[in-house]
Amino acid sequence: MNLEVGIRWMELFNEKVQNEKDYLTQLDTPIGDSDHGNNMSRGMAHVVEAIEEQKPENLNELLKLVTTNLLSKVGGASGPLYASAFMGMMKAEAAGEEWATILKAGLENIQMRGKAEKGDKTMVDLWTAVVEAVSKDELTHDLIDEAVEATKPLKAKKGRASYVGERSIGHIDPGAYSSGLLFHAMLEAEAE
Ligand code: ADP
Ligand code: MG
Ligand code: MG
Repeated sequence: MNLEVGIRWMELFNEKVQNEKDYLTQLDTPIGDSDHGNNMSRGMAHVVEAIEEQKPENLNELLKLVTTNLLSKVGGASGPLYASAFMGMMKAEAAGEEWATILKAGLENIQMRGKAEKGDKTMVDLWTAVVEAVSKDELTHDLIDEAVEATKPLKAKKGRASYVGERSIGHIDPGAYSSGLLFHAMLEAEAE
């Protein structure tokens, strides 16, 4: 990962979020409050705008900019959680860690903030699968899709989806799906 790839990563993530805004909202309807599409779309629009205006000069500045914009613009549960991810990544990057470790630090910060474990049907499930795969250099688009799909049979134990209890079973978790878009975008940016 470097600054150019990182910027491309955020641009591609933004495109995916805007294209799939309605689907993200649809996923957040049976097990949430129908705002995940709006939350992510608003946040990522601000992120790409801020990149153009502030022109980060290195990867650390980029990660910082993403953190502050997601925190201030997204709202909901997902804003602070995504911001925590990028904050953890920013710190690990500053410490000179390699990319797999940086992503792991992102996951750890999500868990520090939201207290979700793997299997609770949240974005943590997706991040856990991705971090494990990246550490073995085995991340693929199929693996991401399978990890998103794997949230479907689970019963939600954290966040709003946990309020509907058993009725959360059979639905994909919206935050896992949007995190899937994040990592599809990462693979695409890395391949360019
Ligand atoms: P809200 O639920 O506040 O409306 P969003 O709809 O934007 O926020 O985001 C919902 C997503 O946030 C969920 O699908 C889930 O992936 C994630 N989420 C919620 N609570 C937690 C948590 N405690 N830990 C990790 N992820 C969580
Ligand atoms: Mg919601
Ligand atoms: Mg909400």
